[in-house]
Amino acid sequence: MFSIGKGKWYTRKVFGIEEVEGIMKIIRSIAEMQKETLMHKENKRSIGFAPTMGYFHKGHLQLIEEAKKENDIVAVSIFVNPLQFGENEDFGRYPRDEKRDIQLAESYGVDLLFIPTVEEMYPTKPQLNMVMVDRVDVLCGKSRPGHFDGVVTVLAKLFHIVQPNRAYFGLKDAQQIAVVDVLIQQYNFPIELIRVPTAREDNGLAMSSRNVYLTEQERAEAPAIIHALQEAKSLMENEERHPAVIVEKVRALLQQHTSAKIDYVELLSYPELKTIEQINQQVIVAVAVQFEKARLIDNIIYHP
Ligand code: AMP
Repeated sequence: MFSIGKGKWYTRKVFGIEEVEGIMKIIRSIAEMQKETLMHKENKRSIGFAPTMGYFHKGHLQLIEEAKKENDIVAVSIFVNPLQFGENEDFGRYPRDEKRDIQLAESYGVDLLFIPTVEEMYPTKPQLNMVMVDRVDVLCGKSRPGHFDGVVTVLAKLFHIVQPNRAYFGLKDAQQIAVVDVLIQQYNFPIELIRVPTAREDNGLAMSSRNVYLTEQERAEAPAIIHALQEAKSLMENEERHPAVIVEKVRALLQQHTSAKIDYVELLSYPELKTIEQINQQVIVAVAVQFEKARLIDNIIYHP
C-alpha cells in the first residue's frame, strides 16, 4: 500500500532495501508495532524510544529531539499506565489530548507513535508480577507504594515490543531513571539508557503534564521549588556536608514560599538512593509537594 498522509506509511525499495520516508505511523496494536520494529531491526536501523503518558510539553519534546540526533528511527509511546497509579491517585483525570500529541509528534519527526489501549496492553488479569526491591523505599517509591512495580512492568513490555537500541528518560523523574537502570541491567535488556536534563519554564518550574492543575496562585508559588533546590546546591558548593542541614533549609524555604503540603524533602546518594551521613559522593536532593490538585516533583543532582 502506497499512501501518503497523516499516520500513513510510505515505503519504497532501493537496492532491495525498504526505504522509509519521513511520515509518522500511528500504531495501536502490539502485533503491528512488533512487525514494524522487526522490519527496522532486519534493516539494521537503530531505534530510539521515549515512553510517555502523553499530554506533551517541552520535556517530552526534548526526549524526542535527543532521540532524533542519535537514531535512525524514533519511536514514542503514549500510554497512561493504570498499574503505576494508586487507588486515590489521578489516573482517571490524568490530562490527555491525543490529537494535539499526534500533531506535535509528527512535527518533531517521530517515526512510530505507539498508542495502545489498556485492554491491548493488559488483556488478562496479571499472571506474573514484577516487584522492585531496591531503590524504592524512599522518595516517590515510599509515598506511592507499588508505583515503580507498575513502571517496570509496563517498561518491560514496551521494551520487548519496541526493541529500542536507546531509551530516553527525563531526569525530572530521577528515581524512575534509577529504577529503569536496575531493570535494564538485571533483566539484560540490550538498551542504552539516556538521561535527558529537566526542561523548565522560564521561571524555573519543571515542566509537567500536571502543571495544568495549578491555580494561578500556585503557579506563582511553584518556582519556589527550584529556588529551594538551588539554595541546597549553593550550600553544598560552599562545603556544607551534612544532609540534615540541607534538608531543613529546603523545607523551611518551601514552607515559607508556598502553600503546598510537603510530601518529602530528601537528600540521598544517587543513583543508589541510600541515606548518607556525609555528602562525599554524588547525591540527589529531591522534593515532592502537594498543591490542591497537583502533586509536583523536582530534584537536583550534585557531585561534590
Ligand atoms: P510522563 O509522560 O510524565 O510519564 O513522562 C515521560 C518522560 O518524559 C519521562 O522520561 C519523564 O522523565 C520525561 N519528562 C517529563 N517531564 C520532563 C521534564 N520537565 N524535563 C525532561 N523530561 C521530562
